[in-house]
Amino acid sequence: MSLFPNVQFLVSAAQPGQFPADRGAEVAFAGRSNAGKSSAINAITQRHALARVSKTPGRTRLLNFFELAPGQRIVDLPGYGYAAAPEAERRTWAPLIGALRERQSLRGLVLIVDSRRGVGAEDENLIAWARASTRDSERPTEDQMRVHVLLSKADKLTRNEGAKALREAKAALGDSATVQLFSALGKVGIDEAQRVLQAWFAVARS
Ligand code: GDP
Repeated sequence: MSLFPNVQFLVSAAQPGQFPADRGAEVAFAGRSNAGKSSAINAITQRHALARVSKTPGRTRLLNFFELAPGQRIVDLPGYGYAAAPEAERRTWAPLIGALRERQSLRGLVLIVDSRRGVGAEDENLIAWARASTRDSERPTEDQMRVHVLLSKADKLTRNEGAKALREAKAALGDSATVQLFSALGKVGIDEAQRVLQAWFAVARS
C-alpha cells in the first residue's frame, strides 16, 4: 500500500499570491541542480513521475506545490548552483522563497546534496537562510525550522566512502541539520526519509 495514495500536483507559483492557502503542513525540497532532487521526491512519494512536473518548460524556476494527503504538501524549490542566477531571475524568486519561509504551514526543509560533493557553501547558505526566518527569530533552537539533508546517489559510493561522507557532513552541519545517506536508484534510506517527512507533518506548530 502506498504511503501517499492520493498525491496530486497543486500549482506552480510565480508569486506568493499563487501559493495554496497557508493551512496544514508543508515541507520544502531544495538542492543544487542535478543533485537528485526530483529522483528523491519521486522515491519518497513512491510516484515515478511526480517531480517531472517541476521540470517541464516554464516551471523550472517556479515553486511547485504537490499535495500528498489532505493538509500535507511538499514544495519543490528551483535547483540552484552552477552559474549565479541572472539578476532578473533572482529578483523574482528571492521574494518567492522569502515568502515561503514565513508560512505558518512550513515545517521544514529537505536538502538534497550529492554525496560525492558533500555539503558546500551554497548548501550552508540555504540552511542558514531557512533557519533565519523572522517567524523563528524568537523561538528556541529546537523549535526553529527543521532541516534534513539527504546525501544522494549513495549507490555511487563504497560502504567506506559512504561512512566517510556521512561523517564529514555531520561535522559540517553540526546542530543545524540532521543527515542521512540516500539513493533513489539503489533504494538506500527511503524509509528513513519517509519517516522524517511523516514526523514533520505530525508536528503541531503555531
Ligand atoms: P535534480 O536536477 O536535482 O532534480 O536531479 P534528478 O533527480 O533529475 O537527477 C539528476 C541526475 O542524477 C539524473 O541523471 C539521475 O538519473 C541521476 N540520479 C538521481 N538519483 C540518483 C541515484 O540515487 N543514483 C544515481 N546513481 N544517480 C542518480
